[in-house]
Amino acid sequence: MENLKIELTQHPKKKPGPGDKLGFGSVFTDHMMLMEYDRGIGWHDARIVPFGPITLSPASTVLHYAQETFEGMKAYRSTDGRVLLFRPEENFKRLNRSNERLCIPELDVDFCVESLKELVMIDKDWIPEAEGASLYIRPFIIGNESKLGVKEADNYIYCVLLSPSGAYYESGLKPVPIYVEEEYVRAVRGGTGFAKTGGNYASSMRAQTIAHEKGYSQVLWLDGVEKKYVGEVGAMNIFFVIDGEVITPELDGSILPGITRKSMIELLRRDGYTVTERQIAIQEVADAYDAGKLDEMFGTGTAAVISPVGELKWGDKIMKINNGEIGPISAHAYKELTDIQWGRAKGPDGWSVEIGHI
Ligand SMILES: *Cc1c(COP(=O)(O)O)cnc(C)c1O
Repeated sequence: MENLKIELTQHPKKKPGPGDKLGFGSVFTDHMMLMEYDRGIGWHDARIVPFGPITLSPASTVLHYAQETFEGMKAYRSTDGRVLLFRPEENFKRLNRSNERLCIPELDVDFCVESLKELVMIDKDWIPEAEGASLYIRPFIIGNESKLGVKEADNYIYCVLLSPSGAYYESGLKPVPIYVEEEYVRAVRGGTGFAKTGGNYASSMRAQTIAHEKGYSQVLWLDGVEKKYVGEVGAMNIFFVIDGEVITPELDGSILPGITRKSMIELLRRDGYTVTERQIAIQEVADAYDAGKLDEMFGTGTAAVISPVGELKWGDKIMKINNGEIGPISAHAYKELTDIQWGRAKGPDGWSVEIGHI
């Protein structure tokens, strides 16, 4: 590629073997991508370099005012050795929407996709082979001006890391218990809820920690104004199946527009299900449960694809969904989407992008 320098490592690391536990996000490949932005010049010096530390001024904007955006996506290895990405343009388009909200300069989507392909192919041998395992991809941008004044930075760093990650479910799809968060809120309309930015996570950690202490895996966030309408869970969008209809909260500016969410809506509609995007009050969910009509509930996101909810607690009310087992629509959706992602089935045009062979 023009405008992309490549410096290969002289010290390749030992790759994890088939028997090694990978977990999530703690092992990194041999290379990473870097690019800088300076006001007046634009983005420049795109390069693939050996993975390693980056140095920052202690006054760097991101450290003080959290001017940061990120993405999360995966590269998959099919059983016949093809290297696949899933709707990569969607991630970089979303990154630009996050950037706009955080006053970070726009990126060229095509350049991001093409340079990512180069990076993944250089480190393709790191894509794990185990069933359900993949190469997690983390593009991010930080404001990096050495200045304590509160204003958008004049300098930025774009970086992409690759991390081989194990299957999210080591022992099959397992429904999780979650509860409705009534004290803290994640986002409000007009805030940064729709942007993928680190600050949203910093402000949600306390609720997440308390949930873990209580033996729950996530919290279900309500809207930040009335604490009445369902938002999303942790790093996942949420779906309900009520009386056969699939319902997910509409994108109102406080919800992260998940690419798995969007794909799930499109796939389920293709397969003949009724899928509705609308406001849904937590009271409506509880009423549906009491009427015996809350058939299924599941979260969607790149990491887990689908995470069925087996138990939902709202105040003193405990709702056991589908006997704590995975429901038929969740199971169908999981299979359809993972078959496309891992190249076992052909999805809609442009979803699975083959970038080379192992
Ligand atoms: C990334 C993310 C999601 C899921 O988005 P996908 O594109 O499906 O991975 C959902 N909620 C939050 C808060 C997120 O950061």
